[in-house]
Amino acid sequence: MKQQLMKMVFEDNVVMNWSTVQKCALILILACGMHLTWIVWKIYIFLQPSVWSMINMPLMRVTFWIDISFFCVLAALIYPTIYYREHKLAVSFMPWISIGLFTLTLCFGSYMVGTLSPATMIGYVSMVTVGLILFQRHLIYVALIPATIMLLLCTYLSTYHVIPYAPLFNIGPTQENVLLQPFWVNTMLFFSAPIFLVSLLLFEILLTQWRNREDYIEKLSQIDPLTNVLNRRSINLYLKDLHDQFQHNQCPYAVILLDLDHFKRINDNYGHDVGDKVLIEVAKCLSHHLRHKDYIGRFGGEEFILLLPNTALAQARIIAERCRIAIQTLPIFLKDQSTIQISASFGIAMSSSNTDPSELLNQADQALYAVKANGRNQVQYYFDLPPLMTKS
Ligand code: GH3
Ligand code: MG
Ligand code: MG
Repeated sequence: MKQQLMKMVFEDNVVMNWSTVQKCALILILACGMHLTWIVWKIYIFLQPSVWSMINMPLMRVTFWIDISFFCVLAALIYPTIYYREHKLAVSFMPWISIGLFTLTLCFGSYMVGTLSPATMIGYVSMVTVGLILFQRHLIYVALIPATIMLLLCTYLSTYHVIPYAPLFNIGPTQENVLLQPFWVNTMLFFSAPIFLVSLLLFEILLTQWRNREDYIEKLSQIDPLTNVLNRRSINLYLKDLHDQFQHNQCPYAVILLDLDHFKRINDNYGHDVGDKVLIEVAKCLSHHLRHKDYIGRFGGEEFILLLPNTALAQARIIAERCRIAIQTLPIFLKDQSTIQISASFGIAMSSSNTDPSELLNQADQALYAVKANGRNQVQYYFDLPPLMTKS
């Protein structure tokens, strides 16, 4: 159960995959949570006459009802937001309404408890970071700029005693200084901890999903979408790696190019779909007949490449022959359950210290070309070619 929940949150891209309106519902829920924290705190204060001297009680009563009203309005908006998430009006206006209400909630609370208090700082930083991750930048900046101006203005006006600083607390010159008293510190902790924890959780979810997505995209960028084997770009990188290792430890490797014989006829006679099916089946067949450490790539249309690390010529010949027979005996089923037979030609080149990867590909290609000229469906090693057939 717990594992399922973790999988749902981190792998199924909860939040990240949500539409903008669903994210608005989340923002409304968070704003509700914030008001609820204040309501709970105020009820606690009402029940604790010992701390009343540190609190501006008339303002406290007024803001208590403001909090309840805000809470009801926000809660009332959550259900229609989720229900009408596809509606054009919701898509156009909910981001502005939800972010606006959230910002208003934050500014109101910040002024009440002090614009320079830890709770305000944490709320502000969380709003900016989580907001920028969830929504388009312009939405956040439109809310952030007036909110920042308002917070700065309140701070300056309080500094010059035009308006009171943290009016919810009694911090007048005749009153006992409430700042940094245990009561004030606990209050700040009570206000900031939920914001901090929720932001941290959201961050953790989003970062994990981002990493998962990056891994997935990285994998996609290495794979040929039709056949699911490596694409040419990543095969070239692996070939370069193999060659670097070979230069270092002289461990031989083989490069095998294989091309399906008369593939154009399959397309022409049975259609492109059957041609695609053949390519997919051949890729699967090659995967079954190679070792775990070998690489298979799609080199071009109906041409595949095999990289065999740590493999001498004799072994490479055996593997190529095994694949050739496997392709030759691979039945390709058509829609009417009849089968067609295919074959492929193979060209082998072996690593050598004075042959770079591109030259090896060239050698394997020449060996393959020779097979095509010699009747197809065979395996040919480059250095077995008669000298006249080699270009280099
Ligand atoms: P050969 O034995 O000499 O290799 O003959 P061939 O017909 O296999 O070779 P040719 O180069 O004449 O034709 C290759 C064909 O492969 C032509 C092209 O339309 C087809 N092809 C290339 N990529 C794809 C693909 O992704 N799907 C399908 N169905 N066909 C493809
Ligand atoms: Mg071909
Ligand atoms: Mg070809």
